[in-house]
Amino acid sequence: MRCKKAEKFLFWSFDNRLGPEQEKKLQAHLAACPHCQKKKAEYQLILSDLKKKPVAEPNPYFWERLQPKLQPRRKLDSFILWKQWGLRTVPLSLMLVIILALGIIFLLPSNQEELSQSETLLLRNVNPFQETQTLFEQEKPEEKNMMLIFTSLDENSRLWRPFP
Ligand SMILES: [Zn+2]
Repeated sequence: MRCKKAEKFLFWSFDNRLGPEQEKKLQAHLAACPHCQKKKAEYQLILSDLKKKPVAEPNPYFWERLQPKLQPRRKLDSFILWKQWGLRTVPLSLMLVIILALGIIFLLPSNQEELSQSETLLLRNVNPFQETQTLFEQEKPEEKNMMLIFTSLDENSRLWRPFP
């Protein structure tokens, strides 16, 4: 075993994290390596020194000074939670919008088909006399009469109304 690995095992042994097999290997290395023996002695000295020192007590009024600092943090946490919840609902609302848009796209043409002619005129703001007007705007009287005759024959032109 190399010294580097032995040192790692040494640390683990201080934390009682060393398996029995690893412990055996470490002891074998320590018996043969004066360098690692010295290291082990050093680390043990440091550890025992640290254990002798008392645990530092917090300064007076530490809690009183800490508490106000914790308050805004808690508000921030709730804000972050709200934001995360909001972000999670975004796909849902997006889906609803898409469904709504699709519904409108599929329903609108059928609605338009169901509209009667007068409804179409009203909703689309079409002038019902547009066709008739173009007829009367013709300058030549012969042309006007011809167009009036042809329009009256045309069954599809429901917009045309005879003038009194
Ligand atoms: Zn060694």
